[in-house]
Amino acid sequence: MDRREQLYEGKAKKVFATDDPELLIVSYKDDATAFNGKKRGTIAGKGIINNRMSNHLMQRLEKAGVPTHFVRELSGRETLVKRVRIVPLEVIVRNISAGSFCKRYGFPEGVRFGEPTVEYSYKNDALDDPLICVPHILAMQLATREEIATIERYALTADRELSAFWAARGVTLVDFKLEFGRLPDGSIVLADEISPDTCRLWDTATGKKLDKDRFRQDLGGVEDAYAEIMGRLMSGS
Ligand code: UDP
Repeated sequence: MDRREQLYEGKAKKVFATDDPELLIVSYKDDATAFNGKKRGTIAGKGIINNRMSNHLMQRLEKAGVPTHFVRELSGRETLVKRVRIVPLEVIVRNISAGSFCKRYGFPEGVRFGEPTVEYSYKNDALDDPLICVPHILAMQLATREEIATIERYALTADRELSAFWAARGVTLVDFKLEFGRLPDGSIVLADEISPDTCRLWDTATGKKLDKDRFRQDLGGVEDAYAEIMGRLMSGS
């Protein structure tokens, strides 16, 4: 499958057309941004790690009953995916308090919840992706009630699968962000990526952060952390 014209360049990926109008090629970059693009940098090798990790995890989720946009890995950085119309929501699942949850509520980091939480942000860079409640999603017709129910079910299935996957590799899944899209027939599939850019992953034994928080918070050892988490991914079956 050959690349045709570039359709889009985002913060961490480029998207290209192909000869098939229903398929796109995603190319992962080493560029890193945080705080809605206000902090910028490069994490050497990140594009390859995120591409491989996301594809591995998406294939696992497919087996667990979550349909995804994944078609085929083409190279270290490139993957063939189904073209979707993205639902303009960031779907965030949390198992342990961290990040904006702690900031918003003045709540300590690292507290495990009795059950996972699912929340939504409205994908809109100009507005800094504000938190949005279900009635407002419905009011703006960003998704239907049925679509939201499907998205929540897929998000919680993903949480169960990914939590168990990482636990078997000595890693705690703290929280993560998913994005969903609609296929031409209107069905909902998981899209975007699942990677250390979009998940908080802590070493279970030491609590060491093995994700993009090392970049966001200037903790150092960013490349090493991405290499470490990729090693853990490969360490299991
Ligand atoms: N996240 C993301 N993209 C965003 C915002 C959040 O991938 O634009 C991920 C983030 O990596 C974390 C989870 O979603 O794993 C929850 O993030 P949070 O709401 O705590 O926001 P943050 O602290 O990243 O601002």
